[in-house]
Amino acid sequence: MKPAPFRYVRPSSVDEAISVLAAEGYGAKPLAGGQSLIPTMNFRLAQPAVLVDIDRLDELRGIRDGGGDGATNGLYIGAMTRHSELERSAVVRDRAPLLAEAMPWIAHPQIRNRGTMGGSLAHADPAAELPAVMLALDARIHLRGPAGDRTVQFCDFCTGFFSTALAPDELVTGVEIPPLPAGTGTAFLEISRRQGDFALVGVCAVVTLDAGGVCTRASLTLLSVGDGPVCAKTAEDALRDRTLTPDAVRDAGEAVATIDIDPPADIHASAAYRRQLARVLTARALDTAARRAAGA
Ligand SMILES: Cc1cc2nc3c(=O)[nH]c(=O)nc-3n(C[C@H](O)[C@H](O)[C@H](O)COP(=O)(O)OP(=O)(O)OC[C@H]3O[C@@H](n4cnc5c(N)ncnc54)[C@H](O)[C@@H]3O)c2cc1C
Repeated sequence: MKPAPFRYVRPSSVDEAISVLAAEGYGAKPLAGGQSLIPTMNFRLAQPAVLVDIDRLDELRGIRDGGGDGATNGLYIGAMTRHSELERSAVVRDRAPLLAEAMPWIAHPQIRNRGTMGGSLAHADPAAELPAVMLALDARIHLRGPAGDRTVQFCDFCTGFFSTALAPDELVTGVEIPPLPAGTGTAFLEISRRQGDFALVGVCAVVTLDAGGVCTRASLTLLSVGDGPVCAKTAEDALRDRTLTPDAVRDAGEAVATIDIDPPADIHASAAYRRQLARVLTARALDTAARRAAGA
């Protein structure tokens, strides 16, 4: 299929891009890496009247340690940073190992060379890795629109199936990931039918242990089991103040599979199979994160 006719605009600054989006309203769409938008247009599931190409806006690129607005002294990643740059970044590996571990699971190298972090977060595919990772890491997303800049806690950003808190005349400008507390380990796991396919189920685990090995904070976030990234609250609460014994880890997998998620059935997997994957992957990811925390 070919896309429906559209007008193409290539602004030379973020503010100019926002002016075009504001003038065109719902008829305009930012074009980042094009790896989700162009296929959707080719299938005519999206028919924007205007594409606002933000590919050359260097002010949206880059990875800065201690960047952002200084509120968290975290790791700041510009929206137009490519998946492949995140995958290869030593700073990301050091400051956000969960993000580094998730990157090779996203699609294929060719797609990672074009796809961008901001594009993935704005698209909010429930099977995408990056929204789940940002939720697990308690990230803040930076947005800019005609009224200026604002930041949104990532837990408030994904509002439903392919839906976000982003207004049609706003751009994602970046994301800020707070530093991990001492004694924290992380792990990412997923299962897909073939390497590069979207995940049937994926799990992010973040575990903080005190000096005695007791869990002071656990975050379990799943992808591909709901309308967006899903926080496994029951399992997280049950892990707090416990030693992560094999029983505790198994109980967490059980709570995730039976209480915290209500996965869809589709042509790729039944709901029951997704629950079983969530059960097994949660226990494995939690165990790995706990061992990494103990060695951290
Ligand atoms: C074969 C294939 C396999 C894939 N597999 C996976 C996978 O396993 N996991 C995964 O997560 N993804 C996967 N993807 C999607 C890929 O990661 C995309 O790159 C990503 O989802 C979108 O990024 P993009 O930069 O290409 O955005 P685009 O396609 O350019 O844009 C996507 C949407 O976000 C909007 N947008 C883009 N940037 C901004 C911004 N800065 N501010 C506001 N709105 C913006 C656009 O208007 C559009 O609505 C796959 C894609 C393909 C083609």
